[in-house]
Amino acid sequence: MKGPSYSAEELLTRLVGFDTTSHKPNVPLIRFVEDYLLQHGVVSEIVPNAHGNKASLFATIGPKGTPGVALSCHTDVVPVEGQKWTSDPFIVTERDVKLFGRGTADMKGFLACVLAAVPEFLGRPLAVPIHLAFSYDEEIGCIGVRPMIAEFGARLTKPRMVFVGEPTSMSVVDSHKGPVRWHIVIRGRAAHSSMAPLGVNAIAFAGKLLRELSDIEHELKLRPQDARFDPPYATLQVTRIDGGTATNIVPVACHMDFDIRAIPGVDTAAIDRRIRAFAANVCMPEMQRIAPEAGIDIAIANQVPPFAAGTHSEAVALALRLAEQNETYAVSYATEAGLFQVAGSPAVVIGPGDIAQAHTADEWIAKDQLEKCSAFLGRLGAWAEHGSAVR
Ligand SMILES: [Zn+2]
Repeated sequence: MKGPSYSAEELLTRLVGFDTTSHKPNVPLIRFVEDYLLQHGVVSEIVPNAHGNKASLFATIGPKGTPGVALSCHTDVVPVEGQKWTSDPFIVTERDVKLFGRGTADMKGFLACVLAAVPEFLGRPLAVPIHLAFSYDEEIGCIGVRPMIAEFGARLTKPRMVFVGEPTSMSVVDSHKGPVRWHIVIRGRAAHSSMAPLGVNAIAFAGKLLRELSDIEHELKLRPQDARFDPPYATLQVTRIDGGTATNIVPVACHMDFDIRAIPGVDTAAIDRRIRAFAANVCMPEMQRIAPEAGIDIAIANQVPPFAAGTHSEAVALALRLAEQNETYAVSYATEAGLFQVAGSPAVVIGPGDIAQAHTADEWIAKDQLEKCSAFLGRLGAWAEHGSAVR
């Protein structure tokens, strides 16, 4: 079937036109992609969320049921609210061979290149299939890709490897940090502040937890460092705190968020156990002597595993070959690569555009980045015709 053929730039213009800010539906964009693929005879599998307003899309070009190379992309973008844009963020505008618009770098530029490459992929008798894996809600904690990954090996073919097209300026990224976010609720007992011993001061116990977190932060810095990351260690910081009612009331509640950006090898589950043990053994007995109802609730709000492709990764070897490079990089931002890797599909991060432009006002992608990515995908298509061993 001969469907329409567009340039990556033309497709980028269409894709940016869909406002897929994470708190809005992405279904109109997914319908557009599904329809485009169908015009080329490619049938998509849709993995909708419970509300039906968001969905992931998975499709295969080439032999069905055979594990191939997945091209992974999130379809959501970060908000433009509060940012000062020179032009409409949802209309691609060209200035100085740069294309401006929300998501041009992160990461609709990659999506546009992949869709533009579909006719070329279809024109080749592929021995190794190319899968398209488009997710949602990446920007709020890699949420949407998880139900899709859960169907790998069942309804969806589990990819032999995954290329995650986050903006790396087309460099090969083989490791990234993994963020873990905790939410803590400290429940005390209110009292008139003149009668403080009758109450349990939630903020005071938050203070004890803060000291423990500060110790952990310090210990993380003293662990063996990984010079490929900047900074070269796992960071821990309290990101939000909120407590108390009035100046004359012993605070009954305090909420606290903190996060760790773990380098591969840091055992965040052990840190989680340590904080829970500190709360249970140090804080709660003291709190409950005065108020049995007092306590501390600790929950992991979100977690993305750190990503380390390892030295023998076929995905990294293939990406280096197709990118015509021989050096890999580590980055401090998180991607879906860690989740794919943990699920058993070796991953690598490579995509057009610069992470420095991601999430900013006047986000842009250089036009030559789209060309580089399209050339990379062309070489992928040529490789997939034979799919020889990579090393
Ligand atoms: Zn992204």
